[in-house]
Formats: sequence, structure tokens, C-alpha cells
Amino acid sequence: MSQTYLDPAQALAALASYKSRDGLSVEELLDEQLSGGLTYNDFLILPGYIDFSAHLASLESKITKKITLRTPLMSSPMDTVTETDMAISMALLGGIGIIHNNCAAEEQAAMVRKVKKFENGFIVDPVALSPNHTVADVKAIKEKSGFCGIPITETGSMNAKLVGIVTARDIQFHNDESSPLKEIMTTDLVVAKTGVTLAEANEILKTSKKGKLPIVDEQGHLVSLLARSDLLKNQEYPLASKARDSKQLLCGAAVGTRPDDRDRLALLVDAGLDVVVLDSSQGNSIFQLDMIKWIKQTFPNLEVIAGNVVTREQAANLIAAGADGLRIGMGSGSICITQEVMACGRPQATAVHRVSEFARHFGVPTIADGGIGNVGHIVKAIALGASAVMMGGMLAGTTESPGEYFYHEGQRLKRYRGMGSIDAMSNKSAGKDGNAATKRYFSEGDTVKVAQGVVGNVVDKGSVRKFIPYLITGLQHSLQDIGCRSIADFSQAVYDGVVRFEKRTASAQLEGGVHGLHSYEKKLFQ
Ligand code: IMP
Repeated sequence: MSQTYLDPAQALAALASYKSRDGLSVEELLDEQLSGGLTYNDFLILPGYIDFSAHLASLESKITKKITLRTPLMSSPMDTVTETDMAISMALLGGIGIIHNNCAAEEQAAMVRKVKKFENGFIVDPVALSPNHTVADVKAIKEKSGFCGIPITETGSMNAKLVGIVTARDIQFHNDESSPLKEIMTTDLVVAKTGVTLAEANEILKTSKKGKLPIVDEQGHLVSLLARSDLLKNQEYPLASKARDSKQLLCGAAVGTRPDDRDRLALLVDAGLDVVVLDSSQGNSIFQLDMIKWIKQTFPNLEVIAGNVVTREQAANLIAAGADGLRIGMGSGSICITQEVMACGRPQATAVHRVSEFARHFGVPTIADGGIGNVGHIVKAIALGASAVMMGGMLAGTTESPGEYFYHEGQRLKRYRGMGSIDAMSNKSAGKDGNAATKRYFSEGDTVKVAQGVVGNVVDKGSVRKFIPYLITGLQHSLQDIGCRSIADFSQAVYDGVVRFEKRTASAQLEGGVHGLHSYEKKLFQ
């Protein structure tokens, strides 16, 4: 007897006759009674319906009540991850960098100021010399830094009157190294005034055929410089994170919660800080609650990200105290041994969902911090309700992370260390009330330091200016597969039960990785 089939035109109607959609809702997925705490690797997101091209997917998302970014990516406040270079690049690419506090307050404030003063394409702190410096000084700079177009100001520093420029040609055949620069410098200068756009300044450089274009203010004081050698490198950054009505990049920084952190924060605010991260491995403390309240009274316009938290109860305290954003994660970081030593923490997928689901009722965005190892983890963090992710290990080992590269067994590496490692906690130059890393772990009074992190090495990842665009494109393609045009739609669709999930058994995880090959090369992007 031949089988009878339904009319294909009735497929959608037939679907509606099933009691529930295929897969699990987020609540079913994270039902702790059934499966305990989950990590990002324990589940997958089921694909949806594609009716748009990936590049149209919007990654706009909030990191605090008032700050929206075009890409949901943040760099960790760690001394092997975020200093000036990282913070500038993260902001140019649509994310934000959080500058670490394991240094003197003045140093941290100087880093924030540099980010705020940065103008794409313009060198805001070029080396300058005075007319009384000598040819030998120019040659020494050339040897050390490789460049030679040096602006000459009355005092030899920035923001002083520009009086000349010394180029390679001026010193090329000059044998007397003791000659003062006033005798050889070029005084017939082509300059541009502050406020000139990058495109206009580039045009002046091209037509003047000069190597450098000094930018001066109304009084003729040197404020920045543009280099011909940078002309080709000067890209546009349409996603750049900037404050409304401002050309300045957004910048964040971390502080602790001790009395001297209030003085530190005052310096950071004076440098132009947009958002402060209260850096603690366990944020639900009286110190943090007091600090949030004090900041809200003292700097009402400063956005405060509190944390870290992994439970609703911790989150509730910080939200009630006035937190504008929450950082989630305890023990999930790649350099972290907190769960092993403290027996405290929570698997990150569960933590992100529990806290985010609670915080959203108060309009408080959440940041999934730690344990991000690939693009898929970012997508999963967002699926579970995080508005953004914070990355340490993913960004360590890039050109923009602090530290020098070195070779080990033929591989180019950089150091990456936990802020709770003995190494980081032993840095003495970080504040009157004790080192920032020890404060993060409440151990400044202890005679024995108990490590919660390790010191390691990571391989050279190249520049974040290439790596972040890879993450962005990867995220957009994932949203396309899931069938959501924006992060906002995605989050809503998860809570509405439209986006569905599936748990992964151990063998499912094996199947999902590369398998069965003799050997292979894993190149992630080009
Ligand atoms: P990763 O992205 O997995 O490498 O994790 C980075 C995150 O780990 C940071 O943003 C911090 O929240 C956290 N973290 C940094 N240092 C330590 C540590 O020494 N122990 C535990 N967690 C740490």
C-alpha cells in the first residue's frame, strides 16, 4: 500500500500543530535542576531564517544605561591587555578599552588623556626639539625611532610656539654634530590650523610635497603633526565610539574601592574619562556599594560599571546602589584559578543568563567578562542576555597589547598574566593604599598572598585593527544564520522563545570540532 503524504503547501500549517518549537527555550536550556551550570561550549543556537545580507546586521549595543557602542566588544582592564594603544584601537573599531589600574594614578590618567586627545591620523605627542638642540640630538632620535621630520618649538615641547622644522635633508650632509638647530632648520613652513579635518590636512600634505604638516593653534603653538608616511595608512573608522557631539574617542578605566581610589578617580575624570569599571573579583561588597553611591554624588555624569557578579542576589545590591552596568564572571577567565582556590564562582553561560535576565528589568546592561575564546562564544554570551563581552586573552598578544614580543621554540609570543597572579600583585608602583591587583582580590592586608591567577604566554595575533574586524564580520554572519538583523532583535527573540537552543553532549562537542584528519592548518581569517 502506498504511503500518503501531506500536501507540501501545508508544511507551515503542519508545523503549527506541534506543541512547541524545535529545540529548547533559553529557560529550558538553563534549567539547573536538569543540567547544572553550563558553559558556552555546552550548547548551540539553532539556525533561523535568512532574508538579509550579513553586512546589514547591526551590532549596536549598550554597555551602560547611557553608553551605546556600535560593536559590543570591550578589552579587559589588565596590565597585559589595555593601555593607550589598545584603548585607541578598540574605540576606533567601535568598541571600548578599559585602561588598567596596576600603575600610579598619574600614569593611568595620562593614558586616558592620550586616548581622549587622539585624533585619527594626527600625531598628538610628536617628539619636538628646541632651536638650541643640536644636529647630534636629531641623529640620535633618527637612530632610535627611525624618523627625522622634527618640529622645532621655542621650548622644545608641544604647545609652545612653532619656529621651524628639521628634516633628513637638513642634516644629511651636515658634519658638525654640535651645530644648533636654529642654524639649519627650515623656517619657511607649511602649517594647518587646529580644526582642520583629516581629509583637508591630507590634501595639504599631498600638494605641499612636504614630509610633515604641523598643526598649530591661533597663537602658532604646535598641537599635533601629520606625517606623509601615514597618508596611505589613514583609514576611516566609521564605527568609532565617540561621545555625542564630540570628536573624542570614548575611554574607560578601572579603579578599586579603597579611599585612595577616590583620588585616583578624580584624576581620571579630569583626564576626560567616560566610564569607570569598579574592578573586583567579587563585587557584592560594602566597599563597592559605598563607592557607587559616592561616585553618583560626586560625578553624576560618569557612568559606573560595577561587578563582578554571577548571581541575581549580588546584582540586586549593585543595581540598587546605582550601577549603570554590570560585569559578569567569576572564575571563567583564561588565566584564572579562582574557582579552584576559592571554591567560588559559576559556570559562565549560567551566570550570564541569570544576571542578565534580572538586570534587564531595570534597564541595566550586562557585560560577559572572561572565557571568550572565539567568535561563537561572543554570540552565545549575547544570546544569553549580555549586551557586550569583555576580552582579555583574546586580545593579549596583539600588537596593541602592552609588552614586548619574544621567541620561544620558534613561536613569537607575548606575556599574558592574571591580575590575581603573584606577579601582578607584586607590582609596587600602583597606589598609596596598596597595589591595585591585590585590592581586586581583597588581599592587601595579608602576609601571605594567595594567587587567583597565573602568568602565561600567548601567540602573536597581529594587530587588533585586523582582528576586531574579523570578530565583527564573524558576529554579523552568525546573526544572519540565526535570522536576527540586530543584537536588540536577537535578545528579544531569545526571551520570546523564538531563538532556540540545543545542549551538546561530549560527543556532540567532538563532532562540532575538526576531526578525522591526519593534520590540518587552522587559519581563522584573511
Ligand atoms: P579571558 O578573556 O578569558 O582571558 O579573561 C579575562 C578576565 O579575567 C578579566 O576581564 C577579569 O575579569 C578576569 N581576570 C583577570 N585577572 C584574573 C586573575 O588573576 N584571576 C581571575 N580572573 C582574572
